[in-house]
Amino acid sequence: MTMQLTNTTKITSRMTNNEDCNNRTFNQKILFDELPVLRNLNIRKPEIYKQKTCVMCNKDIEDTLHPFICNNFNTFLREKYIEHIALIGKNYGSQKSKTNIIKAYRHENFLKIDMGRQLRGTINSDQFNFIDIMRGLSYKHMSQKIKSHVISDIQIIKDIQFKIYNYLRKLMKQRWTERCSTFLEWEKRQNISKENKGGEKDKNDRKHKKRPTKTRDEKYETIKKSLIIQQWGCDLLILEGLYLSKKLMKQRWTERCSTFLEWEKRQNISKENKGGEKDKNDRKHKKRPTKTRDEEYETIKKSLIIQQWGCDLLILEGLYLSKWMVRRLNK
Ligand SMILES: [Zn+2]
Repeated sequence: MTMQLTNTTKITSRMTNNEDCNNRTFNQKILFDELPVLRNLNIRKPEIYKQKTCVMCNKDIEDTLHPFICNNFNTFLREKYIEHIALIGKNYGSQKSKTNIIKAYRHENFLKIDMGRQLRGTINSDQFNFIDIMRGLSYKHMSQKIKSHVISDIQIIKDIQFKIYNYLRKLMKQRWTERCSTFLEWEKRQNISKENKGGEKDKNDRKHKKRPTKTRDEKYETIKKSLIIQQWGCDLLILEGLYLSKKLMKQRWTERCSTFLEWEKRQNISKENKGGEKDKNDRKHKKRPTKTRDEEYETIKKSLIIQQWGCDLLILEGLYLSKWMVRRLNK
């Protein structure tokens, strides 16, 4: 509960910044596979967009990640990403040489480009790799990797993670802008005009256009997604999620404890009548109330999930995977 509240506050305050909001939308669209790429346009308006094939390479289906993979752009992104880690690392005073940092990251599996993976999407047995980073997910051992390859200061590690995330997003946004201008030219050649797109500018689509009626399943998905985004914010979740909420929760708990101590004083609750133990030792000495079987199950499940993913990642990956599976089933 506290976690949700603190995250919401954070989001609200960040949402005031227009650019942030814009970037957040872009990032969410990538994550949820909702960019207006040809595959999605073909599903939405098949009478206008008859092809799914990318207009830049004329080879592969243009899905949400394709513009960032097309013509080996992902290789370029990966190189830039690695170089940038080295650059920021050096700026923060890393003792390692730039060349060595770059070399170390080039060898990392989690930054490998898996061609097969790009074609078949994600399956559970797949290793985390660069495509996941492009999608906006964070690698669970990233901070350890920075620690061993770059620098050990915890705060700097967080800063580096934040900066490289934003850097990659920036490059991807640039690429998307390029793709959009190529796409507009293509549309002109195809005689796809604003009129037959529906007579409105794309920008205003959301406000004015009557959307196609959604199926019940789609409605459910949309509601679920918007609730999650509203509650957590996506990029926030990916990058800062666990760290931030833990920090905020701890701060909140400290606040609560000092308020509580004052309240105890007013109620004349002293150490003596609490039972002669200090709060700190409570956990060690006091017998906890017995848990029900359901509670135990929940605890175990939760700790397994956190252990495996960090809970924030799970939500995202889960959503992505479930969307992917739904699409797969619909084929
Ligand atoms: Zn292409």
